[in-house]
Amino acid sequence: MDKCSSELSIPSAPRDFGFYNNGSYVAAGTREIFTRSSPGHGVPVTRIPKCTVEDLDLAVDSARTAFDDRRWSGLNGQARAAVLLKAAALIRERSEEIAFFETLENGKPISQARAEVGGCADMFEYASGLARSLHGDSFNNLGDGMFGIVTREPVGVVGLITPWNFPFLILCERVPYILASGCTIVAKPSEVTSATTLILAEILTDAGLPDGCMNVVTGSGSSIGQALIEHPRVDMLSFTGSTAVGRRVVEAAGRTNFKKLGLELGGKNPQIVFADADLEDAADGVAFGIGFNTGQCCVSGSRLIVERSVADEFAQMLREKFSKVVVGDPLDEKTQIGAITTDAQNTTIMSYIEKGSAEGAELICGGEQLDFGRGQYIAPTLFGNVTGDMAIAREEIFGPVLTIMPFDTIEEAIEIANDTEYGLAASVWSKNIDKALTVMRQVQAGRFWVNTTLAGGPELPLGGFKQSGWGREAGMYGVEEYTQVKSVHIEIGKRTPWIE
Ligand code: NAD
Repeated sequence: MDKCSSELSIPSAPRDFGFYNNGSYVAAGTREIFTRSSPGHGVPVTRIPKCTVEDLDLAVDSARTAFDDRRWSGLNGQARAAVLLKAAALIRERSEEIAFFETLENGKPISQARAEVGGCADMFEYASGLARSLHGDSFNNLGDGMFGIVTREPVGVVGLITPWNFPFLILCERVPYILASGCTIVAKPSEVTSATTLILAEILTDAGLPDGCMNVVTGSGSSIGQALIEHPRVDMLSFTGSTAVGRRVVEAAGRTNFKKLGLELGGKNPQIVFADADLEDAADGVAFGIGFNTGQCCVSGSRLIVERSVADEFAQMLREKFSKVVVGDPLDEKTQIGAITTDAQNTTIMSYIEKGSAEGAELICGGEQLDFGRGQYIAPTLFGNVTGDMAIAREEIFGPVLTIMPFDTIEEAIEIANDTEYGLAASVWSKNIDKALTVMRQVQAGRFWVNTTLAGGPELPLGGFKQSGWGREAGMYGVEEYTQVKSVHIEIGKRTPWIE
C-alpha cells in the first residue's frame, strides 16, 4: 500500500471486476481486459473486461425477458419502492467503498465523492416514493356514454450510456427513476470509470431487484456503445455524454428501430454577475462553478458575463479565490480540485489554453499543469479580454478554464448568454429581483440558478434546451420520461349502431 497524505491508501493491486448479467457477475475469462490507472497517481486501480457484442446480446436478452415476463413491471408500486429503499440503505452501507473507487477511477476529491454517494442514496429514497405515486389521468367529462382514462406504461428495455465525469451520480440520477417506472436496464458506463456502475448492479441484486432487471456491459463506446445504440431489441436509449456522440445516437435510432431517446449533452454555461450582486458570494460561487469536479461538469459555469463597472474588481476577486483553492491528491480530504480524468481530456484542456492565448485573450492566472510528482493536474485558469468569436468562448472545454466577457446592459447580458448552440444551465447573481427574474425568463437553459450555482437534488428535473439535449431526468419528470402514455376510451351502456 502506497500511503497518501491522508489516511486513505492507494490499493497495492488493481481490483478485478466482471461484467454483470442476469443478477450476477460474469468473470472476464478470455476476454480482453482494460486496466484503469488512477489519474491522480498513475497506478492501476481496476481491471474491467471488454465485453463482446455477444455479451451485449446476452445482457439485452436478460433485460428483455425480465421486462416481457413482467417480473418487475408487474409488481405493485409498494414492492418496487421497497427494493429502491433497500438499495438506498445498501449504498449508504457501502458508501466508503463506492466513494473510494469513484475517486480512484475519476480523480475527483474524496470529500466530493463521499457527498455525491450520499446524494445518490437520496435519489433512490426519493424515487421509491415516485414508484408509488406514478399515475395517469381520467376524463369524466366525455358525456354519459363514455369514460376516458390515460395510463402510463413503462417503455421497456432501456439502454443507459453514461460518461466519466460523474460515473455514480449520473447513473443514480437515472437508474432509480427508470426502475420506479417499471423498465429494465442494460447500462454501459464509460470505459474508464466502470467500477461503481458494477457495484450498483450488485447492490440492486442484494436489495431484491429481480435478476435481469439491471445488467451492465463494459467496454469502449465505439464498439459496445455503438452496438447498444443500434440494438433492435432495446426500446429506449438514455445517453449522457458529448453532443458529437449524441448525434450518432440520434442517427442510429433513425437507422434501426426508432427507439425513444433521452439525451443529456454538452454545455457552455453562463454566469451573469450584476454590479448589485453580493460580489463576495458571487466570486465564491463563480469559482466553485468552474472549479468543482475540475470543470469537468456538463453544467460548469464556464462563461463569466460581468457588468463592466465591476469587471476589473471581480476579476481580481476571482484571481484571489483561485490562488487559495486546494488542488492536489484526490485521496487527501483537504483537496478541493483533483486530477484531470483522462490523458485525452488533459491534452484537450491544455490545447484550449494555448488557443486562448493565441487568439489574443489575456491569461489572468493559471494556464499551467501542476506537478505533484505523479498524476495530471491543471491550475484553475482565468482569461480576460475574451470576445464572443473565440474558441474558448464558444466551445465546451470541460476543464477549469473560465472566460470573462463584460456587459453594459441587461439586454446585452442576455444576448451574450444566449449566443451559444447549448442551453444546459445558467446562473445569475443580483440582489435586484426584477433583473434576476428577467434574466431567468429570457436565458435559454434547462437549469437556472439565482444567487447560487450547481444546486441540485432528486426533486427537480435535469436536462437541456437547444443542442444540450432532449428530455428530462430526475423528479417526477424523470420517471414519466421512461413511460409511454396510453389513451383508453370506455363506452358505457348500449352502443349507437353504425349499421341499422
Ligand atoms: P463521450 O460522448 O465521449 O462518452 C459518453 C459515453 O458514450 C461513454 O460511455 C462512451 O463510452 C460512450 N460512447 C462513445 N462513443 C460512442 C458511440 N459511438 N456509441 C455509443 N456510445 C458511445 O463523453 P465523455 O467524454 O465521456 O463525457 C464528456 C461529455 O459528456 C461532455 O461533452 C459533457 O458535457 C457531457 N456530459 C453531459 C452531461 C449532461 O447531463 N448534460 C453530464 C455529463 C457529461
